[in-house]
Parts: sequence; structure tokens; C-alpha cells
Amino acid sequence: MKSFETMLSDYARVVVKVGLNLQHGQTLFIKAPIEGVDFVRQVAKFAYEEKAKEVYVDGNDDFLTRMKYINSPMEVFENFPKWKADAMESLAKEGAAFLSISSSDPELLKGVDPEKISTGNKAAAMAMKTYMEYAMNDLITWCVISIPTINWASKVFPHNSPEEAYKKLWDSIFKTIRVDKEDPIEAWENHIKNINNRMEFLNKNKLRKFYYTSSNGTDLTIEFHEDHLWCGGGDYNKDNTFFVPNMPTEEVFTLPLKTGINGIVFNTKPLNYSGNVIDGFNLTFKDGRVVDFHARKGEEILKKLLNTDDGAKYIGEVALVPFSSPISKSNITFLNTLFDENASCHLALGKAYPPCLKGGDKMSEKELEQHGANDSLIHEDFMIGSRDLNIMGTTSDGKSMEIFKDGEWAF
Ligand code: ZN
Ligand code: ZN
Repeated sequence: MKSFETMLSDYARVVVKVGLNLQHGQTLFIKAPIEGVDFVRQVAKFAYEEKAKEVYVDGNDDFLTRMKYINSPMEVFENFPKWKADAMESLAKEGAAFLSISSSDPELLKGVDPEKISTGNKAAAMAMKTYMEYAMNDLITWCVISIPTINWASKVFPHNSPEEAYKKLWDSIFKTIRVDKEDPIEAWENHIKNINNRMEFLNKNKLRKFYYTSSNGTDLTIEFHEDHLWCGGGDYNKDNTFFVPNMPTEEVFTLPLKTGINGIVFNTKPLNYSGNVIDGFNLTFKDGRVVDFHARKGEEILKKLLNTDDGAKYIGEVALVPFSSPISKSNITFLNTLFDENASCHLALGKAYPPCLKGGDKMSEKELEQHGANDSLIHEDFMIGSRDLNIMGTTSDGKSMEIFKDGEWAF
């Protein structure tokens, strides 16, 4: 068994070599919780070993963020600092790589005025639109990962002491990143190969429709444009460098035809959105649009999310993850979408990922719309996979084929 120090160092190495695939002379920008400085130093060490030009770190802290939301006036949330957006844009333009470490307390903003939260999110999304286009079109290298913080760990393992919870969350994350394996880099190569095989099968069969059913009440039809592509594992940036945008990643995903979604879908894992938990919810769709919704927990936040803009009421991503995925088997609800989405079939409200259309990364906004790709300031995954989820597919020549049977791949 590897020591904690070895796994921590292997994690940083895998992030730099596989996730970012950092190139000589490239600048690295890291967004990280200040609690995670030891890990960030490890990442920087490997980045400089790969001859990175410079490593920038933008530190954040849950305590300071919460203080700001409670004390600062509304105008602070209405106006995202332009200098911050400009900095990200200029780094993107010069071809920097971006590492984002997402580790916030799932209930960080519990009890904060939802109006402040939605105003702040919207202003940030608008200010960061150009940067987001770089990322969503894979023009740059970007990677999202997590490391534990004490507060987050205590929410995931509420029956343990904070120190034990913190240690348990590290162990769980190491497993999902495969750094408990003898050779984690080789383990990632094999994993990416497996994801590619699923993608190729789905792309070869040119599916035009999915029909989802589950005993929880999910009864949903999703249509696809004929030019849709299944994606997963990793992507190539504009310089043809392969990178892995999410670690962990278990999903195979595409975009739906914006107006081709009808029926009802029930969530199966809580959704941590902006420091609030939304759970026990369902969404009803008519011609792609959410026409009705209910939530046992966080309904007000869900309503704000759906009302961000018109595209927030439509789906931009359809993702498949078997119920027996390693993250799902761990039986841990991480209350962090990066992990929970990779434990479960999911959909995302909001913006579609253009590379999931043939030639999509080069399409104008108008062309994307004509291909049925949704656009929005948000992109928010929510989990719908269950033990008895079945998905029947229909191919372009009208043949039926089983895609998922009892929560697992049927092919
Ligand atoms: Zn996803
Ligand atoms: Zn997503």
C-alpha cells in the first residue's frame, strides 16, 4: 500500500501529466482553496519539471467567501471585477493551461439571500463569457479536480471527527483518481481507452432517440440531431494537445436536440448548486422546455437556477455512467458535482458543449442554434441514474436497441 505522501505526489503528477498534459513553456493558472497549499506546491513542482513558464495561483477560502456574501452590499454581486475577467482572457489568448480545484463546503451559502447568489453567478457568467468560450470549445487546456477541505469532508462524513472525515475524503479521492494503483498514468491510459470504445459504439450506431424509464417515475424521451457526437475521456485543444478536462471522469456524453425532450425526470442524488443543496426534485419537459418543477429541498434555489436565462430551462448535455462505476460503488455521496456526476447518468441544464456536434467547435452561435444546441450562461449537471434505469435507443433507420439495462451498459 502506498503512503499518503506518495499518493499525494502521484495525484499532482497525474494532474500535470495527464489532466493538463502541460507543455514546455506553457503558463499554468491554478484556482485553489488556500487550505490546499501543500497540494498546490506539489502541482507547481511537477509543472516546473515539465518546463512550465510560470505558475499563477488564485487562492480562495470558504470562510472569506461566506463573510463576503453576508456582509457586502448587492452592488458587489452585480458587478464582477473586469480586471479579473480580463486576466483570464489574456491568459487564455496566450495559450495558458487552467487548473481549477473545486472543494467548497456544499452548504457554504446556506441561508444567504438567494438573490445575492443568483445575481453574483449571473454577473460572473456574463463577465467570463469570452473565457468560457475558450474552454467550452476546447481552444485551451483546462482541468477541474478536487481536494478535501475540513468543512467539505465533515459534510460527506458527518459521523466522523473532522480529522477522520478529512483523511477519509482524501482516501476516497485518491481511489477515484486511480493513484492507489501501482502505475496511475498507465491506469489512466487504459481507462481512456475503455471510454473511447463506448463512444465509438454509440457514434457508429447513429442514435436519434433515447427513452428513459425508472421505477422512481422517470419517463423521458430525448431526441438527438443527426450530427451529434458522443464525447468522453479527453479532448484535443487548438494545438492538438490531448488533455482530460475532468478528473475523475467516467462519463460518455453528447448534446440533445434542444426542443426534443418530453416527459418527466426525477433526480437520484442531491445537487450542490452554489453552496446550497437541491434534492428530491423533478422536472417536466415539453418540447425541450421545463414547464413544471418541484423540489423537496432547495426549491427556491432551483427556481432561481431555472430563471437565470431562457436557456437555463433547456437541456445541454446527456451523459451516460453505469450504476456500477467505481465512484458509485464507493457508495459515497460527495455533494460535489465533479464526483457525483461521474457516479450516475445525468443531464445538464444550460449550455451545450459545441464539440459534441460534427464541426461544432467552429460553428457560430447561429449555426449552433440551427443544430439544436442549447445556449445559456449556466451549465449545471444533475444526477438521474438509478439501479433500475432502462434506456431504449432508436437508430436513424428506426431500429430499437438497448442502451442501458438495470442501470448498466446493455452492449
Ligand atoms: Zn457531465
Ligand atoms: Zn456537464
